[in-house]
Amino acid sequence: MDYKKRVEELKDEMIDSIIKVVNIPSVKDENSKEYPYGEDIDKALKKTLEICESLGFKTHYDEEGYYGYAEIGEGEEMLGILGHLDVVPAGEITNWNSDPFNAEIREGKLYGRGTQDDKGPTLAAIYAVKALMDSGVKFNKRIRFIFGTDEENLWGGISKYMDNEEIPTFGFTPDAEFPMIHAEKGLLQAKLVSDVGSDVNLSSGNAFNAVPDKSKYNGKDKGELKKELDKLGFEYEEDEESIYVIGKGAHASQPHNGINAIARLCIALDNIGINSKAIKFIAEVVGEDYNGKNIFGNCEDEPSGKITFNIGMINLDKNMEEVSVDIRIPVTKEKSDIVENIKEKIKDYDLKYEEFDYLDSLYVPKDHELIKTLRKVYEEETELDSTPLVIGGATYARSMDNCVAFGAIFPGQEKVEHQANEYIEVDRLMDVTKIYAKAVYELTR
Ligand SMILES: [Zn+2]
Repeated sequence: MDYKKRVEELKDEMIDSIIKVVNIPSVKDENSKEYPYGEDIDKALKKTLEICESLGFKTHYDEEGYYGYAEIGEGEEMLGILGHLDVVPAGEITNWNSDPFNAEIREGKLYGRGTQDDKGPTLAAIYAVKALMDSGVKFNKRIRFIFGTDEENLWGGISKYMDNEEIPTFGFTPDAEFPMIHAEKGLLQAKLVSDVGSDVNLSSGNAFNAVPDKSKYNGKDKGELKKELDKLGFEYEEDEESIYVIGKGAHASQPHNGINAIARLCIALDNIGINSKAIKFIAEVVGEDYNGKNIFGNCEDEPSGKITFNIGMINLDKNMEEVSVDIRIPVTKEKSDIVENIKEKIKDYDLKYEEFDYLDSLYVPKDHELIKTLRKVYEEETELDSTPLVIGGATYARSMDNCVAFGAIFPGQEKVEHQANEYIEVDRLMDVTKIYAKAVYELTR
């Protein structure tokens, strides 16, 4: 079986297919009446299914347009490969050196929105299977590519699939990094609210999942606040109306990389006697500890490390208080215990718990057959360390059991997803395709 040679022969066709799909600007359209996430995402889905059909897969398009899938092989068991066809917006267009939706190759790199996240890797996996098919491989399991359409937002597409369709026995998603991610912490977002107002108006932060890099204050006692910030050694800026406490932005799954500007402002405001239950809670209980020790104790486990607790937003006025938090829960810990811990602490501050969003954790133990097989394939192909990774972020792998994220970014490779000039190196794309081919071969024995 010379599937690697076949991968090489399919190179031009594969790149051509990636370009066709990348050139469809499949950014979510909130205002679409006809399609769940807009006409362009639907076009990208249909185009991908059309490509799969031409390669010999059986395809299915969800009649409401939430997802599609392409299948080959025979048997009871099913290997699922979960990719997504939506992309984040191009952002500031002047930051791109070429049209993000007119992909082109320059110096061995294919540039365009979605080349790395996730159209390139998804099509690489499709062509990997095509190379096996052309090499006469018989699959003893079914292989189903499941195409999500809303990964960059609320995962509506893949959730519909999991509700409506056959769930694969096991699988992988080519939407993260190598060697593989076998544990993803539980992701809980909640609001801590009170209908008792506060002394001051305060509104800071843009998202649950970001460590706020700045927190603005334009209430009373600004002089005292400045003195207190100086005393604490907390950086700030000011203009005529306001004081801005300066932090450092980071993703909420890695709060140790940031400095929480809201926490710092609240600590200082509490010290000067500003009257607010929410501020008091943050100052006394949370402080600058992003592991929430005063709430959860030492909450950690071997596979996934410590819990993280991020204050993403705060909104206070004379009628209400609201603190928005993002919590990443170690994979072996129970969400209900975590929620109890929070409720127990906030009741002293007259705050109530309101859940906003929750994504269950993912954990596939290292002795699982899937992990063992993927590690062996990866080591044989790359001669690199295959120790599985743990993240606080979320991939499609957590939408079903026995699934991991597997590629397509190699260790040390530049991560360009969601950025201007997103690209995938053509040589690495070929490596990825060969790894996926071998992985699918091994997983369908
Ligand atoms: Zn992605």
